[in-house]
Amino acid sequence: MAREGRVENSGVPTGREAGQIPNPKPQIPALILFGPPGSGKGTQSKLLVKTLGIPQISTGDMLREHVRKGLAAGTKVEAKMKAGILVKDEVVNRLVEERLAQPDAVRGFILDGYPRTRAQAETLCGMLAAKGRDAVVIHLVVDYNVIIARLTGRRQCPVCGTLYNETSKPPKVTGVCDLEGAALIIRDDDREEVIRQRLEAYESQTRPLIEYFREKGKRLYDVDASHETPEAVFRKIEVLIRKP
Ligand code: ADP
Repeated sequence: MAREGRVENSGVPTGREAGQIPNPKPQIPALILFGPPGSGKGTQSKLLVKTLGIPQISTGDMLREHVRKGLAAGTKVEAKMKAGILVKDEVVNRLVEERLAQPDAVRGFILDGYPRTRAQAETLCGMLAAKGRDAVVIHLVVDYNVIIARLTGRRQCPVCGTLYNETSKPPKVTGVCDLEGAALIIRDDDREEVIRQRLEAYESQTRPLIEYFREKGKRLYDVDASHETPEAVFRKIEVLIRKP
């Protein structure tokens, strides 16, 4: 007779007992969201996270968190970010390498704002090759004037991180977050002279990677992200990444 309070084995085999992984999901190629500042990489990443259930790896967010936690004390990281200059490759490569080793990145991940230099692209290709993982590059193509309008009008909630734009996506009450009621802030690097510097860094160091991806035979798709809503851009991306 089974003693009270003791749970008896029902005898029904579970996936685990049979030595199987329950519901294994297929791996997804690494998704590289590529484009100038203000092209909507962060917005598209968040939509992809929701649909695919894989994490967004944003080097900009990771670096900002680093600075906030005081982990970048004594380094030039904060000063460089404030000036719109790229942080050293070794710093960024190490952050990404550590992040990719986390268990939630096993099925797939979305790279937002990385790689941004040839050295970063080479390091990434090495990491992907070691993991036997393919990559798809989504290049968000945006008109220069649209970028300037987006970045100069950008406001962010300091509590929840929601992004607004004074003209294209204003909050219900000017200067106040719809969700948190907090006063919206302008990111340090969204000031005009810094925006110019960020665009220059993109033109000279990052844009040339398109050629590098082509040489390496990576799948690269240009997506016009100038005039359509984020949802419409996202629908185009969804179709492209499901292509065999
Ligand atoms: P944006 O794409 O709009 O410029 P991010 O949040 O991606 O904004 O980046 C903000 C800043 O963080 C950059 O101007 C740069 O200083 C630093 N940064 C982010 N990603 C990288 C990277 N991959 N390599 C070097 N610096 C980076």
